[in-house]
Amino acid sequence: MVLDSAGDTSLLLDREDVPPVHEDNPAGGSPFLLTCDHYGRRLPRLLGDLGLPESELERHIAWDIGIAGVAEALSRDLNAHLIAQRYSRLVIDCNRPPDAPSSIPRLSEATVIPGNQSLSLDAAETRRREVFDPYHRRIREAIDARLAENMPTVLVALHSFTPVYNGIARPWHIGTLYHRDIRLPALLLKGLRAEAGLVVGDNEPYAVSDDTDYTIPVHGEARGLMNTGIEIRQDLIADPSGQKQWADRLARILGEIEATLRAQRLLPN
Ligand SMILES: [Zn+2]
Repeated sequence: MVLDSAGDTSLLLDREDVPPVHEDNPAGGSPFLLTCDHYGRRLPRLLGDLGLPESELERHIAWDIGIAGVAEALSRDLNAHLIAQRYSRLVIDCNRPPDAPSSIPRLSEATVIPGNQSLSLDAAETRRREVFDPYHRRIREAIDARLAENMPTVLVALHSFTPVYNGIARPWHIGTLYHRDIRLPALLLKGLRAEAGLVVGDNEPYAVSDDTDYTIPVHGEARGLMNTGIEIRQDLIADPSGQKQWADRLARILGEIEATLRAQRLLPN
């Protein structure tokens, strides 16, 4: 049932809803700061089920399947701070500019989202204020604090992608995503391509852009931080063993990259 269109649109989360921001390892000493925009698929109680059956709410349209387990394990392995967002991207997409049409999608892939049709400006603004803003405020504050302490900071935005989108199969196992800063993606591509049997996407299945992304342009590029996005194919990380395997692999490669960056004086020794 869709509840959002009824009544007061100035509030979204109530006392029974969890806060949008999830963090692991906030005091972690790694230069890598991990973000996870599509970590969760929770829905605020007030929104009901957005008019969708559970089968739709478990699909990639609602979240990045498998990435939560990878992100948490990677945070542990690297001793890195992870900042993640628990609510479904169908509530509001935390990796879209809030003024983009896809910020609160009315259609995702081929699925109409009933609870997002004819949303009032107030209701959209409330989703932004209660979900999007706290998440990005926390990332901004964490970066502020690290810079104030002269702590090296490299932004890694973690995502996963569906193996088949609109009927087209995607061959890559993993992809690096970037736009203006290629320092880290180049090292990551080299590290991933050295792994046996991996099909590695270079800005595939997406490239980062100002119109379709938020976290990398705003927290990485605009602040002059080295950055990359990482997309892992969802069928590879659907269960805990796959998540651990990919986290271990990324921790090893990112550890090697950290050593390279220090040797190149791109990070302090
Ligand atoms: Zn994502």
